[in-house]
Amino acid sequence: MARDTYTELVNTPLGRRISGALGLPQPSRLRRHRPGAPVIDGPVALVGRSTVADRIGEVLLGWGLDVRRHPDPGERIAAVVACFDDVAAPGDLSAPVMELSGLLRQVGPSGRVITVSRRPGATSDPAARAARQGVEGLTRSLAHEMRRGATANGIQLAEDLDADAPGVAGALRFLLSGRSAYVSGQFLTVDTVNGELPRRAEGWDRPLAGQVAVVTGAARGIGAAITEVLRRDGAEIIAVDVPAAGEQLAATANRVRGTALQLDVTVQDAGERLVAHAAQHHGRLDIVVHNAGITRDKLLANMTPDRWDSVIAVNIESQLRINRALLASELFDHGPRIVSLASTSGIAGNRGQSNYAASKAGVMGMVSASQDLLGSRHGTINAVAPGFIETEMTAKIPPITRQVARRLSSLNQGGLPVDVAETIAFLASPSAGGTSGLTLRVCGQNLVGA
Ligand code: NAD
Repeated sequence: MARDTYTELVNTPLGRRISGALGLPQPSRLRRHRPGAPVIDGPVALVGRSTVADRIGEVLLGWGLDVRRHPDPGERIAAVVACFDDVAAPGDLSAPVMELSGLLRQVGPSGRVITVSRRPGATSDPAARAARQGVEGLTRSLAHEMRRGATANGIQLAEDLDADAPGVAGALRFLLSGRSAYVSGQFLTVDTVNGELPRRAEGWDRPLAGQVAVVTGAARGIGAAITEVLRRDGAEIIAVDVPAAGEQLAATANRVRGTALQLDVTVQDAGERLVAHAAQHHGRLDIVVHNAGITRDKLLANMTPDRWDSVIAVNIESQLRINRALLASELFDHGPRIVSLASTSGIAGNRGQSNYAASKAGVMGMVSASQDLLGSRHGTINAVAPGFIETEMTAKIPPITRQVARRLSSLNQGGLPVDVAETIAFLASPSAGGTSGLTLRVCGQNLVGA
């Protein structure tokens, strides 16, 4: 993994002075999750007068946070939660937006703004949908304006979903916490009352206790980070990778005290072999993370069948085949969770990556089409679309292109594998049970793929 020496330099006193004087980007060190640390450090301002706002206030107070309806002017605040769930026409946005505007200068480093609104597509009233979609535009723009590692994201609720739904508290906690350090300008949708919150406060640090998780492509990079975060959150790990990566795979499995399974995910019976391994060595299977992925970049004019077919086979066909086997198995039938790796290339496209982008856009299509299948088992399926993440894959990008790619995001830096892993762990956790069919970007609001 390449070091981001520019971010290291800018975070020294001299580096900060020079970069400030020259008007250069000033990436901040991001606040990342530490078990046992408070959700967020400092007062949380609450904007909005709806019953959803009242309920969110209760949830935040229940976590021991310092919730303010009217923070003192000039006082440093850690976050603003702004509720727009009751807007019925664009004119209704003005009052809460102005209240939010007045608070923004008080938001500290790695602070958070979270907007809460209803899903635009859930209403066919033109004025209401205009207002709701307006919240999307303002949240995304605000995310571009945030400074010093602070982010802005939204939570979108289904039409009649009550704010008591566990998924609302789950989404709120994820977005406030350091787990979402590299998520900005995004929307987390909560559609159902499914899901469960920890009964005791300590439960938030080990939401996956007692569960068994498969991670494919686990030998290195993002996959290895996923095994570590899922393990930290309490899960037992089955680490999967190709036989050629056997040594690294064994090291990953040992690090997280899990089991290793050497398996090429493209073989016809990969799903059956996963299920058999889980049954024999762990006695259950709750979470599957489809992380194995490859790139074989070429301009489409120079594309060869082997480059096209191998990327499609690893990145999407294997997932479809494995999911069919999983869903046919009784072992994977108790609130199962699937999380797949997509990519911002699959959203915006990328020069030289028509094969990769087709496979990753395919992942998003597969995920949204599979939510009913998983829902019938009280499970969920979601995707995570990373932007520029510091791994061996991105270390191969030429240095200047790599610097540009890092600075093109609202957070002015690349993400770390742990940032992707935290989002995956959240989507696999009981508190995210109300979210399914979603692709969530972990990209620091990278302009490429916006
Ligand atoms: P990586 O190349 O470092 O690791 C991928 C792992 O998958 C390797 O250990 C490899 O051996 C394994 N693998 C490949 N083919 C396999 C197969 N047929 N069966 C089993 N295992 C197989 O990549 P990474 O950067 O850690 O990326 C992980 C995932 O995240 C991929 O799906 C990638 O497309 C996606 N992603 C990465 C980035 C980024 O910036 N690094 C951005 C967007 C998406």
